[in-house]
Amino acid sequence: MADIINLLPDNIANQIAAGEVIQRPASAVKELLENAVDAGATEIKLIIQDAGKSLVQVIDNGKGMSETDARMCFERHATSKIRNIDDLFHIRTMGFRGEALASIAAVAQVELKTKRADDETGTFIEIENSVVKKQEPVAAANGTSIAMKNLFFNVPARRNFLKSNAAEMRHIVDEFMRIALSFPGIFFSLTGGGQQIFHLEKGSLKQRIVQVLGQHYNARLVTVQEKTDYLNIYGFVGKPDTAKKTRGDQYFFVNNRFIRSAYLNHAVMSAFKEMIPADSFPLYALFIDLDPAQVDINVHPTKQEIKFEDEKIVYAFVQAAVKHALAQFSITPTLEFDL
Ligand code: ADP
Ligand code: MG
Repeated sequence: MADIINLLPDNIANQIAAGEVIQRPASAVKELLENAVDAGATEIKLIIQDAGKSLVQVIDNGKGMSETDARMCFERHATSKIRNIDDLFHIRTMGFRGEALASIAAVAQVELKTKRADDETGTFIEIENSVVKKQEPVAAANGTSIAMKNLFFNVPARRNFLKSNAAEMRHIVDEFMRIALSFPGIFFSLTGGGQQIFHLEKGSLKQRIVQVLGQHYNARLVTVQEKTDYLNIYGFVGKPDTAKKTRGDQYFFVNNRFIRSAYLNHAVMSAFKEMIPADSFPLYALFIDLDPAQVDINVHPTKQEIKFEDEKIVYAFVQAAVKHALAQFSITPTLEFDL
């Protein structure tokens, strides 16, 4: 009998792997914004057409890429961010898997324009279905522009799974807001369908929270700040009377990475106990910085779930830090609140 196993060609392997990383336009938004942050950009512009179905473009003024790297970045497992297994436990960058651009190029049409400050000319590359269509020198500003066009043009089954424009746009705005919140020192803008949705000048975290989450939080944020040898917690919670009936403005960032954690959410909610009605949700934007060796961000490709080496300690610190911040409100529990 003949042997029956064969190795899949790269473009098919990439397309399968892409399913993990790029589920919808918002996944590409997250990956491209993170790349711009990792490139040290101080200005990042996001341009969306058709809720990202026809265009997701990110323009940054970061360090750019050489001609060779501009081609290499689309290879699978191609990354400048880690070199060995040890680095995996000291990650300070948002990315490290070297999969995002390979995935995007496998399921969309991509145009990359990039230039380093020291180079005379930049590089333009057009790639689709993991195949380079064009590569040429080009006049370009310092930094990188990546345009992802017609997501899933070659995977109709996945394209059909995309939700309405309103729903996909909501996901995009969520990703944009998370990254904008975690890097208040970077200018961000978001343009959708030719209209400016966000224009966020760089400033303090407090200013960024108000810019992103709404003017009504102005003068209604309470500072959280607690530092130990093990970790540093900082950020803001809303005054108890800003608690809303809907969940929403609640953010944890671990080493600047947005994460979801029902466990840590519980720590915050318990600190608010007695100060807000049982069925309401306070704002929080809390940053937890600790030794990267104390967290495993490798558990999920989209990296929203992480594992702490010692979850209980983090819980206790979060709860204590928020309680401490709210101490001024605990004498007279708030009975009235805005909707
Ligand atoms: P990762 O971010 O995990 O390294 P990506 O596929 O997202 O993997 O990117 C691959 C590589 O391409 C990065 O490691 C980086 O060197 C380079 N790169 C991607 N985006 C940019 C950018 N906006 N500016 C400069 N270099 C970039
Ligand atoms: Mg990346």
